Amino acid sequence: MTRDVWDRLLAEARRAHTGSAALSEFCAFPDDLAAQDVTAFPIAAAELMAREAGFAPGPNPFRDAFVAAGPLAMWRETYKGTDIGEDFMARFGCYCLIGAGGAFSSQKMWAWVVYMPADLHYRWHHHPAEEAYYVIDGTAEFFRYGEAPERLGAQAVSVHRSNQPHAMTTHEAPVMAYVVWRNGFETPPVLTE
Ligand code: FE
Repeated sequence: MTRDVWDRLLAEARRAHTGSAALSEFCAFPDDLAAQDVTAFPIAAAELMAREAGFAPGPNPFRDAFVAAGPLAMWRETYKGTDIGEDFMARFGCYCLIGAGGAFSSQKMWAWVVYMPADLHYRWHHHPAEEAYYVIDGTAEFFRYGEAPERLGAQAVSVHRSNQPHAMTTHEAPVMAYVVWRNGFETPPVLTE
């Protein structure tokens, strides 16, 4: 059942979120969640995430729940129509769990999965929403404007202030991250000039 897949994923998100001091400090896991229907919209990166062989061996329930829900999800094409390039559009993956287009709504917090295979650069971008990335599996180098770059692995958190430009690069490993927004939901990310 479709709804069971989403409920299992939500349970994993809640477990990881409440188990992370940094995430809990950034934003409490929402108490106003309501289920909503999702129209599946696959993109090329959905297939890459489903077949990704570069994650840590063995089970990772949160990662595996995001993979399991992938075929049901409305994948985003946030940077379609920009000059970000075909390679990025073909390999960068993101879908919403909580928020517009996701399986749950909340007025307090939105949440996505972001997936990047190895050797991909996500250019500088910004948005009014305050943001926290929680690495579920893999590794990425995180760039925050005005701060030193940082290589983060599983369970590490990167927090981005409102409109603080940030970027991300994968090297030899892929990355999967649980991404949380608070405030400023109405304005999507834009590339930083
Ligand atoms: Fe962001």
